[in-house]
Amino acid sequence: MLTKNTACRDCGSSKLTLFLDLSDQPPANAFLTKEALADGHETRYPLKAYVCEDCQLVQLIDVVDLDTLFQDYVYLTAGAGPTTPKHFTEYAESIAKRFALGKNSFVVEIGSNDGLLLSAFQKCDVKKVLGVDPAKNVAKIANDRGTPTLAEPWGEAVAKRIAKEHGKADLIIGNNVVAHINDHQDLVRAVKALLAPKGAFVFEAPYLVDMFENLSFDTIYHEHLSCLAVRPLKRLFESHGLQVFDVRGKSVQGNSMRMFVGWPDAHEVHLRVPGFVNKEEGMNLNIVPSYHNLARRAERRVKETTDLLAKLKKEGKRIAGYGAPAKGNTLLNYAKIGPETLEYLTEELPTKIGKFSPGMHIPVVHVDVARKDPPDYLLVLAWNYLEKILEREDALRKRGTKFIVPIGEYLRVL
Ligand SMILES: [Zn+2]
Repeated sequence: MLTKNTACRDCGSSKLTLFLDLSDQPPANAFLTKEALADGHETRYPLKAYVCEDCQLVQLIDVVDLDTLFQDYVYLTAGAGPTTPKHFTEYAESIAKRFALGKNSFVVEIGSNDGLLLSAFQKCDVKKVLGVDPAKNVAKIANDRGTPTLAEPWGEAVAKRIAKEHGKADLIIGNNVVAHINDHQDLVRAVKALLAPKGAFVFEAPYLVDMFENLSFDTIYHEHLSCLAVRPLKRLFESHGLQVFDVRGKSVQGNSMRMFVGWPDAHEVHLRVPGFVNKEEGMNLNIVPSYHNLARRAERRVKETTDLLAKLKKEGKRIAGYGAPAKGNTLLNYAKIGPETLEYLTEELPTKIGKFSPGMHIPVVHVDVARKDPPDYLLVLAWNYLEKILEREDALRKRGTKFIVPIGEYLRVL
């Protein structure tokens, strides 16, 4: 169930420094049913963030078995949040345009989930698409909807088989998946086995810079095995003879980045690539003490937040959590915020409603519960949707409910 890496997954160095120990936690998406809660068995695993002294990849080295985490994965992209579908349509359209993808192109998605992004490519006239996802339940949903999907983990063997059966891919795409993969060497070998000579491997991932700018340490959870930055990835791809030819900053799920990788000289290298590297070095992300500073800031923020919540409780205020995202559980478990503080967490995903949050066991209810009987304060756990939430819950705010935002440059009460 749990293995421990002894070397950096990007550069192979054994010089890994622990900088943030978020304590033992259950997997952040392992919401419990009433029965499971009564059963009392809940496995916790170390959640410790390390930085590689040689390439500065931020990573977990305690790796929980993917099957445990993904067999019945509850994150379905279609219902994940208010911005997802539009984001996928625009994403597919822009990529299809940039790489002139059409009816003769072959697009493969790693970690294709319920097939929503690939279906957006199908709407862009790409006839041949194939998803690869280890979660059997979501792969089935994709297949049922008409997006062919293999229910397997990504790797060199499956990539070689796809290349043999379907030919090389013009586009390999991965949306929030590279950070989930433990074996980055195998990931890159698999990309090489399947990528057409003029093809592109494009992926989006949460960006380390955001963790420094917004103190979003809660994006560390067992599924996110790495927190990616341009410098370490560039070194990884170059060590395999591939080239990073573009990077974009994105702001969809908090701040993420989109990286473009191809064969050397197949694409013109954009100036943004050295630009991102310079930015990371300018922020001192290439030296280890910066990571210890980040951990101290996270510790201070957690204390500030729990102090505020304790004060409000003492004043008799009613508090609940807004959203039940995986990252919220990192914060709640690390800060030890439980049902004695938060009456419930709101959610709209039917797969989570009626369950209890992993570790702290806070009941998850439909957001209408808060709308019908407004609490005094809502702790915003789904902070990446803050603007949308404030807009949508304007009526709640007008009735006096305040929103506490624990993640961001400062602790905010709105
Ligand atoms: Zn390294």
